[in-house]
Amino acid sequence: MNLHEYQAKSLLSEFGVEVPPNLLLKQASAKQVATALPASESGRWVVKAQVHSGARGKAGGVLLAESADEIVQAADALIGTRLVTEQAGSAGLPVNSVLVEPAVTIEREFYLALMVDRALQRVVMIASPEGGMDIEVVAESRPEAIFRAIINPTLGLGAYQARQLAFALGLDGRQVNAFASLALKLYRAFVGRDAALIEINPLAQVADGELVVVDAKISLDDNAGYRQTEWWQHRDVTQEDPAERKAIEHGLNYVSLEGNIACMVNGAGLAMATMDLIQQAGGMPANFLDVGGGTSAAKVTEAFKLILENERVEAILVNIFGGIVRCDLIAEGIIEAAREVELDVPTVVRLVGTNAEQGRQMLGDSGLALIAEDDLAAAAERAVTLANSNREVSQ
Ligand code: GDP
Ligand code: MN
Repeated sequence: MNLHEYQAKSLLSEFGVEVPPNLLLKQASAKQVATALPASESGRWVVKAQVHSGARGKAGGVLLAESADEIVQAADALIGTRLVTEQAGSAGLPVNSVLVEPAVTIEREFYLALMVDRALQRVVMIASPEGGMDIEVVAESRPEAIFRAIINPTLGLGAYQARQLAFALGLDGRQVNAFASLALKLYRAFVGRDAALIEINPLAQVADGELVVVDAKISLDDNAGYRQTEWWQHRDVTQEDPAERKAIEHGLNYVSLEGNIACMVNGAGLAMATMDLIQQAGGMPANFLDVGGGTSAAKVTEAFKLILENERVEAILVNIFGGIVRCDLIAEGIIEAAREVELDVPTVVRLVGTNAEQGRQMLGDSGLALIAEDDLAAAAERAVTLANSNREVSQ
């Protein structure tokens, strides 16, 4: 679950992290600005679109204002629009609120983050003097400018590790202490709130050498939702993909992708392999969908409805291995769903395993335009061919 910047800053301040004073606006209200605007030494304020995405600055989602009137104008220009960022996809994300903060004069921008390194099975703190930009770009072009501290889960982040990072960033004596104190608080927040990611980008150095948390991004671990209920109540579903949200409700593991061939598979590994085969055959998957090992006819029906809501879908590839589940039950679900949604998208079905023969028979007898294939590579190729010809027809 992702938090908005204003939520992330509030979470961090609970752990003693100093964040700039701010004002959250849900509508461009002159009255609210007049009464609650934080003072700004620079005489300027930043007005920042609150969406679940980075790269808002480049997308026009971070505006400067020099007066209360300009703040209202900027808020007005952002609230109610959709912000299209490099990370958010072409549909963009709805801007329902903006965060107003005093603008600071930035001398240097650092990057500072905590995340789980799956390969190391550790939380790592990552710091770089190349802040303000995409860390992925820095990792490609200047890997030597990225410093890491691997954190022992029993001991936690050591103060010495935080200081080492500070020295690596080229900070001076006073800053080293401020940085180390910030790093330790961030780590406490990370563990205390079951975060998957905390990212401060940029951590800005301002004129007097002080370090300011200009931006904050936090992702909480979905698996720990049950014990972070307070934050889960603040979850903003307007920022989430509606199909992915619906999938969660039905216990399906679904991720929207950009292609036109939908797939429905039982098992995450098999789903990955199926997507690879689609690509190998020259196609692009429209989604990742794992209906789970022990799936049911009802779940298959929901899964079908879900993938058909995506208008890009021009062919469907169903790949079910009946190990735990029986293929005849899956066939029943497919048939039920196809009837219910009046399936008009060419659908290739590969069923193998328990009662596969019976399942295929049921699909064949259904009178529906379902194409049975035994071989997975052939099934993928068939789906790609059908998607291509479907596209030509519809163009
Ligand atoms: P992001 O683009 O979504 O990561 O949003 P940020 O909050 O990081 O803002 C983007 C960029 O705007 C930052 O990297 C800064 O360069 C700039 N920016 C944001 N706040 C301030 C500020 O108070 N003063 C100045 N000078 N620049 C700012
Ligand atoms: Mn940022």
